[in-house]
Amino acid sequence: MAKEDAKRRIRSALDDMEVVDHHDHIGEPFMASAGHEADLPYFLANAYLYGDLVAAGMAGGILNSERFDYLKTGGDESAEIWKELKPYLGKVRNTIYYRFLLLALKDLYGFEGGEIEDGNWAALSRRIRERSKSQLKWSLEILEKMKVRRMILDISGASRINAKIIEDERLKQVVRMDDFITGNVKTAATFLERNVRTLDDYLEALEGAFETAVKQGAIGVKSGLAYEREILYERVPKPDAERIFASGLDRASYPERKAFQDFMMHEVCGLCAKHKLPFQVHTGLQAGNYNTISNANPTLLTNLIREFPGVRFDIFHGGYPYLMEAGILAKYFPNAYVDACWLAHISPTAYKRALSEWLEIVPASKIFAWGGDHGIIDWSYASLMLAKDLVADVLAEKVATNYFGEEAAIEVAEMIMGKNATEVYGF
Ligand SMILES: [Zn+2]
Repeated sequence: MAKEDAKRRIRSALDDMEVVDHHDHIGEPFMASAGHEADLPYFLANAYLYGDLVAAGMAGGILNSERFDYLKTGGDESAEIWKELKPYLGKVRNTIYYRFLLLALKDLYGFEGGEIEDGNWAALSRRIRERSKSQLKWSLEILEKMKVRRMILDISGASRINAKIIEDERLKQVVRMDDFITGNVKTAATFLERNVRTLDDYLEALEGAFETAVKQGAIGVKSGLAYEREILYERVPKPDAERIFASGLDRASYPERKAFQDFMMHEVCGLCAKHKLPFQVHTGLQAGNYNTISNANPTLLTNLIREFPGVRFDIFHGGYPYLMEAGILAKYFPNAYVDACWLAHISPTAYKRALSEWLEIVPASKIFAWGGDHGIIDWSYASLMLAKDLVADVLAEKVATNYFGEEAAIEVAEMIMGKNATEVYGF
């Protein structure tokens, strides 16, 4: 009982609070001229649920983006896609990737059914399509409803921030420098007024990219290379990198390419330090299918975190499933932060376990509790509602067991839901 009462009060405090969305990918919905309309099948295809449907045996092709071309031309093929989708949807009703979507559909579209099924999907789909005709207005409305103070967007293409979205002081962007790390000379050339011939040219272009990003208003750097390789970046002497670069990255062997990337990652960290830009690093679970989880173990970053005390490393997704390893990095190193973006709807149980344990081992100032991590704001809304419930639950448990008082709990909530990021990212 004591816990339920405390939870209600903490949740209500959370609902009154402005929050920081520590990580999201919402680009198109914030453009003045939105791309195209959306419907229920499109929504499902653009959710993490896709990965679970594939894991359940659905052929990837069913939800390819070309299947949704009709949304650009005023047609309607949703019934055909629904028919193909339905058998697999029945197999994933247990996963949180499916269940948390219902939160958005209920709150934002008045969906009343228990599950999405034959009798109710079409009406719901029509409502979504109708709303999607004014996508920007709708997205800003939801942003307001979420009480988002700042949203950190990862929507940059080739090392420049995305200039197509509307200007709004709530929307901040990080920039990816992964193109430079992997050796994309074409991208580098766009930052240099002469040809990129030597490694020094390439490094000069990287400096130019950082300067451009800062000028464009980037507030941090993001790396998503854990999708492609192990995130252990060893120290490589410059002459080695020079030799690999000079003999052509296209012809380089895998160990050579890795060495070059390792070298470049250190250069990127050096420039993050120079420009005082926090570095968001993907660790843990990769979205989709067929990846290698051990590549993304956050402890593989230990040497970088140690070597660059001037870089604040924002360690993503709580490192799931390496939750405690990620927490320990934030416990050991003043420049490491553990970020639970995406985690609430990866697994609510893991989220609660992680947050509860982190609160016992990590300074509260080193925890970022939530980020939506979606391309569609409706799903980020659902993620926030879920995260608030989980945060309230964890904090209420601590209050009920006399770990700390309710006042301290609410103070912690304010820190992890936005105050910390406001400080670290300098909003
Ligand atoms: Zn993401």
